[in-house]
Amino acid sequence: MTSADLAFVNGAVYTVDAARTREQAVAVKDGRIVAVGSDDDIREHVGPKTAVFDLAGRMLLPGFQDAHVHPVSGGVDRLQCDLHDLHSREDYQLRVKTYAEEHPDREWILGGGWSMDVFPGGTPTKDLLDAIVPDRSAYLPNRDGHTVWVNSRALELAGITATTPDPADGRIERDAAGEPSGSLHEGAADLVGRLAPQPTPDEVYEGLLEGQRYLHSLGITAWQDAIVSTAYWMDNYSAYLRAAGNGDLTARVVGALWWDRERGGDQIDELRELRERGQAGRFAASTVKIMQDGVCETFTAAVLEPYFDAEGRPTDKRGISFVEPEALKGYVTALDRDGFQVHFHALAERAVREALDAIEAALKANGPTDHRHHLAHIQVVHPDDVPRFRKLGVVANAQPLWAAHEGQMDDLTIPFLGEPRWRWQYPFGSLVRAGAILAMGSDWSVSTPDPLEEIHVAVNRKTPPAYLYGNDNDEVFLPEERLDLATSIAAFTMGSAYVNHLDRVTGSIEVGKDADLTVVNRDLFAHPVDEIANSQVDATFVQGTPVYERNGSS
Ligand SMILES: [Zn+2]
Repeated sequence: MTSADLAFVNGAVYTVDAARTREQAVAVKDGRIVAVGSDDDIREHVGPKTAVFDLAGRMLLPGFQDAHVHPVSGGVDRLQCDLHDLHSREDYQLRVKTYAEEHPDREWILGGGWSMDVFPGGTPTKDLLDAIVPDRSAYLPNRDGHTVWVNSRALELAGITATTPDPADGRIERDAAGEPSGSLHEGAADLVGRLAPQPTPDEVYEGLLEGQRYLHSLGITAWQDAIVSTAYWMDNYSAYLRAAGNGDLTARVVGALWWDRERGGDQIDELRELRERGQAGRFAASTVKIMQDGVCETFTAAVLEPYFDAEGRPTDKRGISFVEPEALKGYVTALDRDGFQVHFHALAERAVREALDAIEAALKANGPTDHRHHLAHIQVVHPDDVPRFRKLGVVANAQPLWAAHEGQMDDLTIPFLGEPRWRWQYPFGSLVRAGAILAMGSDWSVSTPDPLEEIHVAVNRKTPPAYLYGNDNDEVFLPEERLDLATSIAAFTMGSAYVNHLDRVTGSIEVGKDADLTVVNRDLFAHPVDEIANSQVDATFVQGTPVYERNGSS
């Protein structure tokens, strides 16, 4: 027997195989797992040329896979005026001011990542930016990208005044006098956004590499990019192809091609062409992303019964179905017939129902396929729709970080959803009990991309300590929807691998699979679950090659 190239020994190996086996050691040859067992079992694979990685009691997991993430824009943000790590008005202003001073040559201040709960009503005002950047346009999307904070210069440039009507797919936030106040929701942001300079191809490429570096450092070896496009706002499609072509793409990536909701079925030919051209190395653009609604905080998520106002009275707001539901059935049926996987943004209960109805129509017309359509976000799911995930073979693609009592939830969401609907939020436990396949993702740069923090919330339904900006609501958020640690890890590995059609080669530590592996600095099962977020990734491997090693960790 020829010896292994690499052996992991003396650890807590959690395999995520069907029997959820735990072992001590793993041997790797030519990028593949050749043995999993005890230290004794693996010793016979170790020769003079074998690199031995002493886990010293640490945990070895299959590489995490993020089923819904925006790594290229996240990476570009990290290289621009990035507000994600801050959480106060003063800090935002200081960062913007510093960035503007350090980049006098940039005609626009771009970047973003602010949090709605910092501002009254979730909507920051232009005067805060005018005070520090009066002479250049500032265009700063919030964390979830659905609302953009702009200054007066940007509004002026776009000609937005008190008399400008709201576009059909968005809303201009206004003050008591009707003047635009500095927040633009959904489609209204495009009025300014279309004037902002696009990142250059090289900036997009650098953003991809930065995003990849960051995700590898968190143990992520594969992901589904939730918006891939040549035209949306940056050409990340070409960046992926370039990286796949020259060997810079170390992660495995499935690209979800953006469905242009201004257009109809005529775009399917183009999507097919993009899919054909979009297969290179570890990259495959084999999915179509349909964004069916917005978000609750701005009342753009599609609900069955109207939202409530701050006083608890019903309003006339029911959110937006971006694609007309009957048309959606036709498009999804056509995409399914054409071999595409459909990845929905379906956030509130009406959008979830419309997406499930569309998949049901496709199933009826085309019969069963293996495309593994999935619904991301699933923040509000009507109880009647929970069993339909399993029935229709639809994967529940969960972003668990916000399934907790924090500012945005308690102040900006629960009162407006009202009883009993707020209790239908993030029903992960119910979905699992109903037999749904669960995948997980972060939606970075909306949320942190750290899977350990996501898993922490999935298990505890509490915000990790690092995110508790003075919010002392320590209650468990809908305790019956908590998941156990094993289920959460499986969702972030096998579950997401299933969505990405990578489950034959990755997602678990089994002989014959590729050695996509993550070393966590301690055995998560040996510590209390409220400490999951305190652990960190020490090393990440793709096909047996290290793509990240924390200094001094091995
Ligand atoms: Zn997203």
